[in-house]
Amino acid sequence: MHFTYEPLPTRVVFGAGSREQLAAETERLGIRRALVLSTPGQAERAEELAAQLGDRAAGTFSGAAMHTPVSVTEDALKRLQELGADGLVAFGGGSTTGLSKALALRTDLPQLILPTTYAGSEMTPILGETQEGRKTTQNTPKVLPETVIYDVELTLTLPPAVSASSGMNAIAHAAEALYAQDGNPVVSLMAEDAIRALAGALPVIVKEPQNLEARTQALYGAWLAGSVLGSVGMALHHKLAHVLGGTFNLPHAELHAALLPHNIAYNAPHAPEAMHRIARALDAENAALGLYEMNKKLGNVPALRDLGMPEDGIAQAAAQALEKPYPNPAPLEQDALLELLRRAWSGQTPS
Ligand code: NAD
Repeated sequence: MHFTYEPLPTRVVFGAGSREQLAAETERLGIRRALVLSTPGQAERAEELAAQLGDRAAGTFSGAAMHTPVSVTEDALKRLQELGADGLVAFGGGSTTGLSKALALRTDLPQLILPTTYAGSEMTPILGETQEGRKTTQNTPKVLPETVIYDVELTLTLPPAVSASSGMNAIAHAAEALYAQDGNPVVSLMAEDAIRALAGALPVIVKEPQNLEARTQALYGAWLAGSVLGSVGMALHHKLAHVLGGTFNLPHAELHAALLPHNIAYNAPHAPEAMHRIARALDAENAALGLYEMNKKLGNVPALRDLGMPEDGIAQAAAQALEKPYPNPAPLEQDALLELLRRAWSGQTPS
């Protein structure tokens, strides 16, 4: 066995009600005037958090948007400078965390994130930004948040359908971590338990969104999944999701959910140990079919065509995936990729 493992230093505070520790945690980071970030949809809750912070909040900025547009970052930067803020508090999903990271990249200010979805961005040193329709991604310790407060109660309002797709987005990180080229035994333990926790909790959440125990398990799984996403390199699934999301502007989490079973099937013959662990965590006989069935059980949209992908985009996506491929257990072959995309486009079972 040979491996290299460098755990990332983010401080994690986990548990129902842990937002009560917000003031103490900002103080720990030396933040005296925080800018509180959110999407427009979560502006009211962000105001409440700012009120909770009292003098420690300089103000709010509620314009965060999907794929971190640079124009939004520039507006937020202006507000940050006008207010003389000395730290960032992000309240929301991957979009709000993305804005926080983009601001940290430009200012070096400390970040405290309160995640409200299962995307996992808060645990990674990865930032994707869009400008003039182009998405660029960078990996730099400058954007890794200093502190994350996982308060399960903040996820209770996440609608069941969004919970289901966001949870599959998290499972996708964990599944690919299990066959990562730079994987290691600790990451594999975390990844398998992430899948187990999420697969157990999500079917309960879609029926009972207020179930605190299921919400706790799902957020625990999302934390693990985000951690492994931040630690090891992703493969074909994340490459295709990046290509399809960027080219056809498909919704991020739903796209991950629909695509995942097909990429797992593609890699199955070349990653038997990962398949065994994914299937075991899902309590299924077959990893890819287990994920496909999980989507069905959760009510996730199985077909990329129903998310807005045009049929003539299949060839374009396959070509782009082959251009600058990520390391992947199965060799990338154009015909096999076309078949994978055709099946995902029409929502057939993976094979
Ligand atoms: P999101 O942050 O866009 O949230 C989706 C919607 O749900 C938003 O309208 C938001 O206001 C709402 N919402 C969020 N939490 C809620 C709650 N608890 N209750 C009610 N409404 C709530 O979506 P996301 O899937 O979390 O993030 C997607 C973005 O994150 C993409 O841009 C993706 O590229 C990025 N991402 C980045 C990384 C990384 O490591 N850099 C990892 C995962 C995702």
